[in-house]
Amino acid sequence: MKIFREPKKLQSWCAARRMEGRRIALVPTMGYLHEGHLSLIAEAKRRGAEEIVVSVFVNPVQFGPNEDFDKYPRDEKADLAKCRAAGATAVFFPTPANMYLDAHSVYVNEESLSKGLCGARRPGHFRGVCTVVSKLFNLVRPHLAVFGQKDFQQATIIRRMERDLNFGIDIVMAPIVREPSGLARSSRNAYLSDAERENALALSQSLAAIKPGPWVPQKRRTERNLAAHGLKVDYVEAVDAETLAPVKTVRKGTAVLLAAYAGKTRLIDNRLW
Ligand code: AMP
Repeated sequence: MKIFREPKKLQSWCAARRMEGRRIALVPTMGYLHEGHLSLIAEAKRRGAEEIVVSVFVNPVQFGPNEDFDKYPRDEKADLAKCRAAGATAVFFPTPANMYLDAHSVYVNEESLSKGLCGARRPGHFRGVCTVVSKLFNLVRPHLAVFGQKDFQQATIIRRMERDLNFGIDIVMAPIVREPSGLARSSRNAYLSDAERENALALSQSLAAIKPGPWVPQKRRTERNLAAHGLKVDYVEAVDAETLAPVKTVRKGTAVLLAAYAGKTRLIDNRLW
């Protein structure tokens, strides 16, 4: 497994693999890898990738000033071992300084799908995500890139960005990997106390209780249920899974998305019909 820290070195290695006709997959992550991330590597393999490039980069541009950039968990050694065991063929560990050169001044902005949900609560977040993912696409020039449904709005925005900017990359969305309790796996789960982890089960449990039919009463029940478990609701929304526009009825093609705080930790989860 190759390890790269310099964008230019990664770029020339990937270009050489592409010239040899190797099918390249990219799996972008912020590290502190868990089963959810590893499932993306497995999905890339299943889709016939011959080179699997995992990027591990806590991207400062997608964090707000009062968010957890500094305390975001990092464990480079463990991440390397997990990537190797999962079958990655290259890992990219850039630094903020070599991804964003002095006077970096070009950003990628999606202007529709990123307005609501997490985009409304985290101004600039998806601008940071689209910018860094565009940079990774240009460095790796993968045939396919794998994202998790865990971050459903993100995967939907990346799909639109790929289409609208003609990247020519197959964007794959892999299902949510959960702990046996139902809690969606997340690097941020490391922040949770035992009590918060218990309360956090209300997210997946609330989603499991939602049924096709009128949304408003179910939204109210979900908000009450999250609050009853000591969670602070950030949003509870039912949207069209393609346009992310709010809907009044849960039916095939609906996505229900939740964001809530357990203590200081912001958690998200979602379910598709
Ligand atoms: P992150 O490191 O949290 O930025 O996540 C990197 C990628 O892994 C994103 O595409 C996430 O959607 C995906 N991911 C994170 N957690 C999960 C999970 N529990 N199941 C599936 N994919 C996940």
